[in-house]
Amino acid sequence: MSEWQGKNVTVAGLGVSGISAARALAGLGASVTVVDGGSSQAHRERAASLEGDGVSVRLGDAETLPEGTDLVVTSPGWKPSSPLFAAAAEAGVDVVGDVEIAWRLRGPDAAPWLAITGTNGKTTTTRMLASILEAAGLRTAAVGNIGTPIVDVVLSEEPYDVLAVELSSYQLHWAPSLRAHSAAVLNLAPDHLDWHGSMEAYAADKGRVYEGNHVACVYNADASDKPSTEDLVREADVEEGCRAVGFTLNAPAPSQLGVVDGILVDRAFVPDRQKQAQELAEISDVQPPAPHNIANALAAAALARAFGVQATAVRDGLRAFRPDAHRIEHVADVAEVAYVDDSKATNTHAAEASLAAYESIVWIAGGLAKGATFDELVTKSAARLRGAVLIGADRELIREALARHAPEVPVVDLDRTDTGAMSEAVRRAAELARPGDTVLMAPACASMDMFTNYNKRGEAFADAVRELGSTSA
Ligand code: ADP
Repeated sequence: MSEWQGKNVTVAGLGVSGISAARALAGLGASVTVVDGGSSQAHRERAASLEGDGVSVRLGDAETLPEGTDLVVTSPGWKPSSPLFAAAAEAGVDVVGDVEIAWRLRGPDAAPWLAITGTNGKTTTTRMLASILEAAGLRTAAVGNIGTPIVDVVLSEEPYDVLAVELSSYQLHWAPSLRAHSAAVLNLAPDHLDWHGSMEAYAADKGRVYEGNHVACVYNADASDKPSTEDLVREADVEEGCRAVGFTLNAPAPSQLGVVDGILVDRAFVPDRQKQAQELAEISDVQPPAPHNIANALAAAALARAFGVQATAVRDGLRAFRPDAHRIEHVADVAEVAYVDDSKATNTHAAEASLAAYESIVWIAGGLAKGATFDELVTKSAARLRGAVLIGADRELIREALARHAPEVPVVDLDRTDTGAMSEAVRRAAELARPGDTVLMAPACASMDMFTNYNKRGEAFADAVRELGSTSA
């Protein structure tokens, strides 16, 4: 009999991961109730379909804990301070996420997990890793914060050889017993602090990814943040024999992967780390070959090598990899100016990485700052800025930082948030640009003041660039 038989499980949230966890647990004999604060038509339709599968749904109340609950399964977005969790704590009931459920259902017996977290670059690195594992002939999937819900993947009938798992800090917070084969924290910069409460709590949740690792804890050897990802490795309790492996954009020390003369090399997974370096790929095999993305490629390579993948498969997998849309996506060249969409750069740390990738930039920035400050970003990027075009609710903050640290950079301040604003931003950027420049939309801000999400912002940019192309042709 399954350990879930007769258990009363409350699932918080009628989203994709909640629905998949609810169905899976009901299928194993648990008595499942999904609770959600919404009660729209869409909610009712989803509820009806779940009820057909033997799951109860309570709409319009996400706060009270259903009577007799043995376990709460939460969706990643719910804040730890949500009243439902306070009620659970009071009743002595555990709260876990869908990743924890996937792990408890099949984790240790199903495919090994290669886990990736970090403030920026998670999706890119996870997809690169999956591409490398595929090139090695392994059956794999990029899952976790992306793709098919992880519960469905671990229960799939055709077994996987290994999983490339992207984990957000929220998912890690709610996955206490997860033990990965190997894991990487790509970088750590302040983000989502409203959710976690403090930088320490955020870093601690990220650091959980290293707990119980079997083979390698992969850390960023270049980062100067405090705590560093290496500090997190030191604090983790790992299996005996598990190694700390660094990645760096410089020449690697023993037990690191790094770059020598434009070649990605491995000095960790070689028979003699003192003497040997294994060539993996060339920088030009990585798309786009921007510094932060080379770092992502090295982290993905480190995890693949920890799993025993050959160097040639690392190269082939990196060559086959194409970034997802709106991540430093080259849209078009118009009048010898490149137009690049990095709408996914929704915080200053991400924008700093993409600004570092180009020599002479007209920067389109602004939106919702989420409490961020822009002084450091502007100071580091000032020398590369031909000009800046500012949009969105918090553009004043960026304008002030530019005035303080880069007063010579011409700034266009666009005081409009209607649908035509992006067209005007692109036109004004084109006026500032010179041949050879890059117009880079890396807003360093969230998009929701003007757009539904970062995808829509990126599409508006691409449409505006096409409009510009057709008028200047
Ligand atoms: P995540 O899944 O962590 O949000 P993505 O791979 O979707 O990360 O990339 C988001 C944005 O972060 C990219 O558009 C790019 O601007 C930036 N970025 C990607 N990798 C890195 C990195 N290693 N360091 C800093 N910024 C990065």
